[in-house]
Amino acid sequence: LSRRLPLLGTNDELDRLSATINRMLSRIATSYERIAQFTADASHELRTPVALIRSNAELLLMEPGSSPGMLRGLADILSESTYMTRLIGDLLTLARSGNEDASIPMELLELNESVRGILDRARAQAMLRNIKLEYLPQDQVVPLLGNQAMVERILMILIDNAVRYTSPGGRIWIETWVTAEHCGFAVHDTGIGIAQSHHEHIFERFFRVDSARTPRDGGSGLGLSIAKSLVEIHKGTIQLESEIGEGARFEIAFARADIVHGVTTEHQLTH
Ligand code: ADP
Repeated sequence: LSRRLPLLGTNDELDRLSATINRMLSRIATSYERIAQFTADASHELRTPVALIRSNAELLLMEPGSSPGMLRGLADILSESTYMTRLIGDLLTLARSGNEDASIPMELLELNESVRGILDRARAQAMLRNIKLEYLPQDQVVPLLGNQAMVERILMILIDNAVRYTSPGGRIWIETWVTAEHCGFAVHDTGIGIAQSHHEHIFERFFRVDSARTPRDGGSGLGLSIAKSLVEIHKGTIQLESEIGEGARFEIAFARADIVHGVTTEHQLTH
């Protein structure tokens, strides 16, 4: 070391060091741009087929003589593809912005309503697996400055997991809550639970608990990492409480729109 120290002091050595750092930084910037470009391209490519599905569902809904079952199916296709259109639009905005939260459209939401909005979809899913789904809303208005499609997506990821990791006959319940400064929701289930040792990895991309223990039709290991990044776009937090065999509870907390953002809710948010 003592032989190298004087060398580090020379201009030549410092120049080389700074050139290396600059090269590394420029490589990092290029890969970041590539990722953002990929997300933008993928969202853009998804837009057209989803728009086509939507307009066909609309046309078929207008056809006379469809059976009630067919009408219900088409209405589902229409509402799911409308939801996807919004989400794709938001992802595109996010990828193009380069700045994680500057251009995500935020609106004044009422959390009880947001949860209620996706309950029908979730109920159908739970019913298919003979799982009881309950909703315990706050009886108070819960104002949140957020992006509706993203909040719905967070909820759907958590409910979808709860359904997949709970055996038939089990129970899932969702509650909304509010304190002086925060509001949020929690999704509980009576499923297989998650061992403490996995808690620190559960929100990492592609992380899945022991694949032998998880159902065959399980997902990609991306759900919770997407949920976490959507929560963070809202400057919120996501927490897990669970023990193996004891079910799981995922809790999301956001800042209250009226307290933190000074948004008045009296006229805009009424049940
Ligand atoms: P996946 O698509 O595999 O469900 P996620 O990122 O959504 O990916 O979840 C990561 C892992 O966390 C899952 O593979 C599963 O092992 C575990 N997990 C998630 N939610 C629950 C839950 N409600 N109960 C038990 N385990 C869960």
